[in-house]
Amino acid sequence: MATIYVVGVTGEGQARIPSVPECLFCRIVSGGVPASLVLESPRTLSFRDISPQAPTHVLVIPKDHYPDLAALAAADGSLLTELVNQAAEVARAEGISGSGYRVVFNTGADAGQAVPHVHAHVLGGRGLGWPPG
Ligand code: AMP
Ligand code: ZN
Repeated sequence: MATIYVVGVTGEGQARIPSVPECLFCRIVSGGVPASLVLESPRTLSFRDISPQAPTHVLVIPKDHYPDLAALAAADGSLLTELVNQAAEVARAEGISGSGYRVVFNTGADAGQAVPHVHAHVLGGRGLGWPPG
């Protein structure tokens, strides 16, 4: 059976999908799946990664569903800016602004993107190796 999504229109005139029922992160936004919230802004949510890879490991997502960074950037640059500002705000709230931190947007299979709802990983609290594995 086909699944029909209700599609809205952003300020830039691009299609957007407010919520995808089977998407894990959309379900966190709607409250259907619990999460450890760190920060919230009008259009973003920040919560702790369930499998932290560093002392601070927080995910920052838009409340609306975009599959990856490129889709978000193409559709709504102001929302991308809000997301990145929230990543910086998370770093301040976690006390890692001074020591440094990494913001990662895994995109696609080779990068290991497991959840197709764009998310920034904010990682810090220890020295992070480079290049990544
Ligand atoms: P990625 O591999 O870039 O798609 O990252 C997905 C991230 O989501 C992984 O780091 C997971 O540990 C994390 N994750 C999966 N399920 C949950 C959940 N229910 N709550 C918080 N983080 C989650
Ligand atoms: Zn989603």
